[in-house]
Amino acid sequence: MNNIFYQSTRESSTKVLSSEAIVRGICEDGGLFVPNLLPKLDKKLDELKSMNYRELAFYIMSKFFTDFKEDELKECINKAYDDKFDTTVIAPLVKKTDVNFLELFHGPTIAFKDMALSILPHLLKTAAKNLNIDKEIVILTATSGDTGKAALEGFANVEGVKIIVFFPQDGVSEIQRMQMLTQEGENTYVVGVKGNFDDCQTGVKNIFNDREFNKRLDDNNIVFSSANSINIGRLVPQIVYYFYSYIGMCNSGEINTGDKINVVVPTGNFGNILAAFYAKTMGLPINKLICASNENNVLYDFINTGVYDKRRELKLTISPSMDILVSSNLERLLVSLNDGNREEIKNLMDSLNNKGIYEISDKMRKGLESFYGGYSTEKETYNTIKEVFETDKYLIDTHTAVAYSVYEKYKKETQDNTKTVVISTASPFKFTRSVMQAIDERYDEFTDFELIDKMSKLSGIKVPVAIKDINKRKIRHSRICEITDMKSVVADIVKVEV
Ligand SMILES: *Cc1c(COP(=O)(O)O)cnc(C)c1O
Repeated sequence: MNNIFYQSTRESSTKVLSSEAIVRGICEDGGLFVPNLLPKLDKKLDELKSMNYRELAFYIMSKFFTDFKEDELKECINKAYDDKFDTTVIAPLVKKTDVNFLELFHGPTIAFKDMALSILPHLLKTAAKNLNIDKEIVILTATSGDTGKAALEGFANVEGVKIIVFFPQDGVSEIQRMQMLTQEGENTYVVGVKGNFDDCQTGVKNIFNDREFNKRLDDNNIVFSSANSINIGRLVPQIVYYFYSYIGMCNSGEINTGDKINVVVPTGNFGNILAAFYAKTMGLPINKLICASNENNVLYDFINTGVYDKRRELKLTISPSMDILVSSNLERLLVSLNDGNREEIKNLMDSLNNKGIYEISDKMRKGLESFYGGYSTEKETYNTIKEVFETDKYLIDTHTAVAYSVYEKYKKETQDNTKTVVISTASPFKFTRSVMQAIDERYDEFTDFELIDKMSKLSGIKVPVAIKDINKRKIRHSRICEITDMKSVVADIVKVEV
């Protein structure tokens, strides 16, 4: 099989294989790694229909990670998609209302980040081995809630790796805090920072860019790495479930093989929907890629006008994982839209950094035709949760509700009756307060923990193991630090002097 190379979105002279792209995470010029071409399906869709999740994962991922040995990649997949997930199908397709919800929240932290973060540690270890890197890997992550916990679960007890997560001490929900503070695994470290998420993020970036500190670590046989969503080791595993949902719809008789489907994705950093775009480019019959935003509707404006303008206030919404103004992975889409003209991308990104805005060419706009951009207001999101529950006794979380709300607008506007998959990115149990409030305002008087049981009664769904008795679990992490002390905390954990 031909090797796939990875190149920066901003210049094309550097070419690396997948192992190196995974270990490096981001290019030195600030660009993101993209494959030199998107591999085409070389099996008929009919042949995929009998595959289970792991088999399909191997089929798709082996096309991208071409320098991984077959048995190594299979081992990564087997270790990732195992009984950590509460269902053997890994990503169930649930037909409710007029769509199919693809539930991506059956992993250890009940949010879709598990789909990629359960395999990333294994990919990273294998990649390091392929490159003969014999160092201890230390993963540094700043989190506003979801990513940190999913990364902790993914990396817990992985040999040769330590993971340190910084979170804003007063900036996460009670359930999220308890999920992190009770994390097991001797190699996990959770630190509350007396600051907001931006302070955590900046602190981590400063540590990554501190040459002297990195040199000191290197002397001690330690190397930093990152688990954030621009790593191709997170992007590629997400392509799998779009194929999986398609064959699920074929197998249930919902569609005939070859029919087109729409996909609706609640979007933040543009990683999840980019994976759908990659699946379409590889040959999956997708009609519209429906990009759903909350009130931080930068992407809605972009898709409809060709202008990306981040110069606005970030709003805090009930779908916090989508509260984002710079969708990093969009840069990768731009490369696909302009046939790889790196000069143009670099100019656009410079403009974004310097002026906070850029506008794409008419030619690139044409490439956006397969996308539909919509957004849901807070009120619409609440109403959608209530409406779906009343129609079908099906409880969806706030992010999924944004997606479904946008789908309803799309359908009204276009009268398009193509069969549709809505990507369901979190369990409602992760956002009990907002979801229960949507059903009835009177739930507001209860604590987050009490609401877990109330939600279970209301929905008839057992409390997920991930958060069952979460308030009674043993707290294992109690470090708190000032913003200015993050570096010395890291030094202390990895036992290196500063
Ligand atoms: C991260 C996240 C999203 C956004 O996904 P992107 O890949 O960043 O677009 C949506 N919903 C939930 C629940 C998430 O955790």
